Amino acid sequence: MNTQDVNTADSGSAKPNIAFIGLGNMGAPMAENLLKAGYALSVYDLSEDATQRLQQAGARVADSPKAAASNAQVVISMLPAGKHVHSVYLGENGTNGLLAELPQGTLVIDSSTIAAADARTLAEAASKLGIDFLDAPVSGGTGGAIAGSLTFIVGGSTDAFAKAEPILAVMGKNIFHAGEHGAGQVAKICNNMLLGILMAGTAEAINLGVKNGLDPKVLSDIMLQSSGRNWTLEVYNPYPQVMDNVPSSNGYQGGFMTKLMQKDLNLALQTAQNTNVDTPMGAKAAELYEAHTVENGDRDFSSIMARHDSSVLY
Ligand code: NAD
Repeated sequence: MNTQDVNTADSGSAKPNIAFIGLGNMGAPMAENLLKAGYALSVYDLSEDATQRLQQAGARVADSPKAAASNAQVVISMLPAGKHVHSVYLGENGTNGLLAELPQGTLVIDSSTIAAADARTLAEAASKLGIDFLDAPVSGGTGGAIAGSLTFIVGGSTDAFAKAEPILAVMGKNIFHAGEHGAGQVAKICNNMLLGILMAGTAEAINLGVKNGLDPKVLSDIMLQSSGRNWTLEVYNPYPQVMDNVPSSNGYQGGFMTKLMQKDLNLALQTAQNTNVDTPMGAKAAELYEAHTVENGDRDFSSIMARHDSSVLY
């Protein structure tokens, strides 16, 4: 850490410079919304295609996390899983990652979905270096990321939360302070365990209707106005052509990859096991997604529909 420089995310009223790391299905539209709101953004991703998109939108492209963060008061990351977040911030040996390069007072917001224990480890390492760390996973999918209507579920100190809030408000509509470090991740995996169960159950119900002669759209409309109503029927129907602009009507491309849902279900099960909590429905959803990931890991998670009817993939 450079102790000479002290960075403050809230110094004066000027907008802080932001480094954004991880520009995938979620990170790219989130970063674009920050640019549209007038934040100066430096970006880094391993994929050149991903950085090019942001360059066209007005971001400065850096060739390392450190280069992206030079001159930034705030760092935001949106990476696939815990191992990527660990490698960016702590490096291979735990001390040679980005955290060691940041000036004191930098605010780090990690919006990836990772284990709560990993978030706490990162927060502790950051705190020793005088850096504020928040776990701030999101809900709302790629549609929410594009629309700037994500839900942020934040764990960390009240002060750091207050500094982060105006920035998160550019990318989201609902910003919750769930509690101390790791609390955001715990709330997020509870939500995603339920989402995995709902998506698998919705696909199963639609398949039962279709195999018994119902039109999937008619059945979906009926359930949407009945007690089976849930988020997947409202905005993310898993059956092709029932809804426009959802992955199921686009070959299950983009969206939230099956392998990421499987990761989240495993995080939920791990947490349940560590704390002796019974989650039989979560365990069943994890089993279904694990089998589905073998051939469909990169497809959107609503492709679990293909478990019942493989023709939906074509
Ligand atoms: P993604 O795979 O589309 O994007 C991840 C990006 O990170 C990729 O562009 C990849 O190149 C980049 N990356 C990987 N390792 C890197 C590294 N070491 N340095 C820099 N860049 C690196 O994933 P996504 O769908 O954007 O999801 C990101 C996170 O958000 C995940 O934790 C996921 O669980 C969570 N999430 C996703 C959704 C969704 O609908 N897609 C919704 C809520 C939460």
